[in-house]
Amino acid sequence: MSIRLNEDQEIVALIREGLKQKDGYCPCRFEKKEEYKCICEEFKAQMADPDFEGYCHCRLYYKTKD
Ligand code: SF4
Repeated sequence: MSIRLNEDQEIVALIREGLKQKDGYCPCRFEKKEEYKCICEEFKAQMADPDFEGYCHCRLYYKTKD
């Protein structure tokens, strides 16, 4: 398993700016809930799932299976 940033640097810059403006909470979600603090609970669960491969909800991170 490995985690990398989106290969599109514009997306990375955009999401990072969004994270800064939302005090570290997911910029792609409306509410500032604890579970939405980056790295959010959803992506943590996806990282722990051996069958999951793909981007996080915001597309900032990409997880590969191997
Ligand atoms: S979806 Fe991605 S960028 Fe958004 S909080 Fe989760 S891990 Fe962070």
